[in-house]
Amino acid sequence: MARITLEHIRHAYGPNPQSPYDYALREVNHEWNDGGAYALLGPSGCGKTTLLNIISGLVKPSEGRILFNGQDVTDFSTEERNIAQVFQFPVVYDTMTVYDNLAFPLRNRGIAYEQVDRRVNEILGMLDLTSRAQKKARGLTADLKQKISLGRGLVRSDVNAILFDEPLTVIDPQMKWVLRSQLKSLHRQSAVTMVYVTHDQTEALTFADKVVVMYQGEIVQIDSPAELFENPKHTFVGYFIGSPGMNVFPVTVDGSKARVGGMEIELGYAPAIGQAKKVELGIRPEFMQLSRTGMPLSIRKVEDIGRLKIVRADFAGQPVSIVVKEEAEIPSEPYVQFRDQGVHIYADSWRVGREA
Ligand code: ATP
Repeated sequence: MARITLEHIRHAYGPNPQSPYDYALREVNHEWNDGGAYALLGPSGCGKTTLLNIISGLVKPSEGRILFNGQDVTDFSTEERNIAQVFQFPVVYDTMTVYDNLAFPLRNRGIAYEQVDRRVNEILGMLDLTSRAQKKARGLTADLKQKISLGRGLVRSDVNAILFDEPLTVIDPQMKWVLRSQLKSLHRQSAVTMVYVTHDQTEALTFADKVVVMYQGEIVQIDSPAELFENPKHTFVGYFIGSPGMNVFPVTVDGSKARVGGMEIELGYAPAIGQAKKVELGIRPEFMQLSRTGMPLSIRKVEDIGRLKIVRADFAGQPVSIVVKEEAEIPSEPYVQFRDQGVHIYADSWRVGREA
């Protein structure tokens, strides 16, 4: 098990990178706790796989160092780093039985028969593969084969870290739910450092203690799911996490007041916007409250999504979404109030606190 230190890592696939845009990873400088469950979350092309491959040793970073428990492993091969990996598509030995596929990484390391048997049966049980233990992998469906791959990744308990690259892509939706929570409980039992790449926020939020949100080759926030929801540090985090995402619109700030289209919002503090070119207010749909007093808005449509309704509206000329309970009454002359703790000010996309 390892604490992973990423020291000023930058990576460009092409030669002679000049501008920040030439880098697939622009600057990553973080320390990840030993035994943590991290999810790398972000849209396609933001650098998740590049970062994972740098941790595994499949890619050597153009700049910077990577350390496991303080030891520089930048020049180590994947094998020397002692990690397990699970990829998007199954990697199994077709001619072996399900049992032998799982036992193989343990037998390879000379582990005693009883210990191998105990561990393999434990993992088979967890993945609901016990009844297929003696079947050859060859004839199995893609999602069963992927479960074997997961098992092969999880079976060793002496690894520094287990890395998952979108491992549930080929698993059917029903089974995804089950496997996600099983991975989470396995992490709790084993305390192995796990890093999990996904572009699916539900997957990231259910699996990880800490979600690493990436955007355009940078880590924009590493936090617990609750923090990402309540305190998005970057407008991208607000927009990407949550459904619908955070409402973000341009404002002018004067002392402790934010103004938009003739409306004035009292912030309760003077935000430190400095010389920012772009100043925005962010508020999640859950923190806007429809009411009979406050600031007027016009409703365009109401979408019923089960226990909740999403109200699509125009506020001061800006499109906004508001989440209300299914049974909530929609006023015929609607007004809106902002709940204070949900209002954030962003200067050039980054959240700012009060003026010092
Ligand atoms: P996805 O979810 O689509 O896999 P990602 O977030 O994992 O995306 P990466 O695969 O790390 O992103 O890609 C980051 C950037 O680096 C992208 O612009 C991609 O086109 C580029 N890239 C990735 N691999 C290579 C490569 N082998 N050679 C050149 N460019 C690459």
